[in-house]
Amino acid sequence: MSNEIDTKKLMRQLVGALSFFGIWTLLFGINWHWTVALMAALYVHETGHAIVAKSRGVQNAGMYFHPFGMVVMLKGNIKPQDSPAISLAGPVFGMLPAMVAFIAFIWTGKDTLAGFAIVATIINLFNLLPLNPLDGGRVTHALLGSLSPYASKYFAAACLLGCLVLSYYAGPVFLLLAYFGWVEYRQASQLLKLNQTRLDVIRDFAAVYHVEATASAVIAARKQHEQNPAEIDRLSLEFATEIEWHDLRVVFGNDAEELDSFLRKEPPPQLSLGRAGLWLAVYGATVLSLAYFAFMLSRFVPIQTAFAMMRY
Ligand SMILES: [Zn+2]
Repeated sequence: MSNEIDTKKLMRQLVGALSFFGIWTLLFGINWHWTVALMAALYVHETGHAIVAKSRGVQNAGMYFHPFGMVVMLKGNIKPQDSPAISLAGPVFGMLPAMVAFIAFIWTGKDTLAGFAIVATIINLFNLLPLNPLDGGRVTHALLGSLSPYASKYFAAACLLGCLVLSYYAGPVFLLLAYFGWVEYRQASQLLKLNQTRLDVIRDFAAVYHVEATASAVIAARKQHEQNPAEIDRLSLEFATEIEWHDLRVVFGNDAEELDSFLRKEPPPQLSLGRAGLWLAVYGATVLSLAYFAFMLSRFVPIQTAFAMMRY
């Protein structure tokens, strides 16, 4: 059984790596040495995510290349308080190959090495943009969650509009970023709606069946949904009595199990404002360090030259 799964995984990894290699060398016309070097850089980046995730109790279900990059599949939900560290680990670890290349450049004076350091740095910097599914987007998502459940949605809308405007002036890469903004906006809206729907179910339940279980349901709902605390407070005061899961099961029939697990699930604690501020500072410092490193490198080899090197 496990052998079968491992073979599947291996095949998927092989196909992923080949698809990346094929598209970058044949379609994008990137020199195969460069393609291999970029794959190594991406591998180190994703390993960074996996190592820090593991240290936070999140297991890695496999790392796969796809035609445009690489992903690490993490098992289970990442708690908001672990998300910034796991997300930033990629770009931070991802700078190791860039540093090694830079040191080798100082040693040997070969421009290609400085070129590689620049390209690797810019890839990591791109990943730090504050848009899902990029690493920076996951950081900002966790940080905004500590402010309000609506913050992510409005931030995504602002990014979407900003990128659309920028795409007009600064090229189609911003269209891709606008798309990321749109995906994030939709996800944030769906999450809000989902929470709202679940809360509505419990409210209807409270209105129709005046059973004590409703009290615990509302209290659990209050833990789950921090938005609109005044309304939830009012409900929980009205129904504050002992837990009677049995009543819920009777009334909800087949759906009871699902409702049960939903209500029993501990809400993931959001980042406190203090911690969010701290991570915002770390995020900002990471972006500035990488930007400075890229700027410093560009005095040895201009950025455009570095990217042009990939083709021959
Ligand atoms: Zn990453």
